Order: sequence, then structure tokens, then C-alpha cells
Amino acid sequence: ARADWLTRALGRAGVLPRAQAEQAIGEGRVEVDGRVEKDPFAPVGARTRVRVDGVEHALTARVWALMFHKPAGPVVHGSDPEGVGTVFERLRAVLPPELQGFEWYAVGRLDRDTTGLLLFSNDEQLVRHATAPETHLPKRYVARVEGAPTEETLGRLRMGLTLEDGPTRLAGAALREPDVVVLTLTEGRHHQVKRMLEAVGHPVLTLHREAVGEVVLDVAEGAFRTLTDEEVTEGL
Ligand code: URA
Repeated sequence: ARADWLTRALGRAGVLPRAQAEQAIGEGRVEVDGRVEKDPFAPVGARTRVRVDGVEHALTARVWALMFHKPAGPVVHGSDPEGVGTVFERLRAVLPPELQGFEWYAVGRLDRDTTGLLLFSNDEQLVRHATAPETHLPKRYVARVEGAPTEETLGRLRMGLTLEDGPTRLAGAALREPDVVVLTLTEGRHHQVKRMLEAVGHPVLTLHREAVGEVVLDVAEGAFRTLTDEEVTEGL
């Protein structure tokens, strides 16, 4: 059992999200092994017996990850200065009560107008791993572009281009339709797909992400599902 501290363990186990856990601890509503615990950083393990408002909870950290089919519109930011709505609000609106107790973090970002696969997790370590540049998790994008890219253009996309922030890594590039490019990247720089296609003379009209690692989007727009354990451990 991994050692953890009380507030975080409550969030990881899906008992209460962090802010609410802190409040409950401060109000003396949380008991650890039979005694009221007022220290949010009290060390706990998987065998620690915890009660919140008199109800016993198992502190088994449950790593949840889920896929969300992002519609065009909402931003992938915690704040929303322009009032366009965030993906966190959209996700919360469709989550069942048993998944509301977790703190959800987005795994990477998509532009406002980009649709498709956005992963969320309640596990910061998983988020860090999946988004770390050295993980090189492949991400598959489908872009409708202006014009019809030639085989030579696809070759340039595959071999790497030099953008203003440096050369791109080897990529997968294929045509699905004369003006639809499937691009697989193992890095995720800001607006990278749009910048790469712009650089070869084919500005992006619409952009959609259909896979991250071995996780393939298979829910309707605006909907979510939890990932299987296998998708989390083998696919990311
Ligand atoms: N590349 C982009 O240009 N936009 C995205 O949203 C994702 C990748």
C-alpha cells in the first residue's frame, strides 16, 4: 500500500474532491482509525479505516481515466475569461454521481475548435506520465485541409519540418480522402497539427483527434466512458 496523505487519499478514492475533503477535515467530520483527524496531511495507507460523517470508506486508490468526446466550442482550461464554456463543465454535466467525487484533470489539451478524444484522469501521476514529452505517446489526428496534398507533401510531413520552435519528430501521414490527412504525432506542441499543415501549404479547416496511444475514441460527441484497466495500463 502506497503511503498517502488524508486529503489526497480521499480524492483518489473518490470519497470527496480535494477542496471538500479539506473542509470536512477542518470541520472534524473525518475519523481515521476511530479518532477525529484534523490534519489534512495525516499519513494514511490502504488499510487505514476512514469515516466521513460516520460512514466508513475504503481508501483504495482507484485510478480512473475516462475518454470524453469533445465538441467544438469549449476550451480546455481551468478558467474561462471569454465565457465560452470549459470542457470541465461539459464533462461534469454528463458524469454520474459516483464519478463526481473525483478531481478530474485533462490529459493534454485541444484547441477550442478541435473535436474528438480528450482523456481525463483523477490520477496526477497518470496525467504527468501521459503528457510528459519523453513519453512520446502517439496521437492520431484527422484534418480536413485546403487543397489536396500530394505524396511528396506527405513525405515532408513524415520526415519532419522545421517550425519556428524547431524541427518536428518523425510522424505518420496518410490521406483518407483527397483533402483529409491523418497525421500521427508523438509530440504535442502548441497548435502543432495546424502549424505543420500550414507550413506545407494546406491550412486546416477542421481538426479532430481520434486516438491517443492505443485508446480509440468510440463515444458520441459530448459523451464519455471510463477506460478499461487494460486501456490505462497497456494503452497509455
Ligand atoms: N494540434 C493543433 O493544431 N490543435 C489541436 O487542438 C491539437 C493538435
